Amino acid sequence: MEAIPRLPDAHLAAAKDLITSHRKRTRCRYCWDRGYLGTNQLNMLVPCAKCVDTDAVMEAWRKHVRETPELAELYGSYFEPEEDAA
Ligand SMILES: [Zn+2]
Repeated sequence: MEAIPRLPDAHLAAAKDLITSHRKRTRCRYCWDRGYLGTNQLNMLVPCAKCVDTDAVMEAWRKHVRETPELAELYGSYFEPEEDAA
């Protein structure tokens, strides 16, 4: 099993922006209006399921990874769906 690399800190700001833009409401006691609960062991933000559209965030994050060369290199095979061998 291949280890998944930690997210470089430089990309956390973009992740926070993505989460902020997909919040369903602005008042949330669960995450203190941050939209995320913290980071996981991969240094990736954990979106607040109470006030964030987590499906939309994951979709937007996958797109961000594909469009960011450094992230595509780190996580490309992790986020891309399985493809048939050419
Ligand atoms: Zn919340």
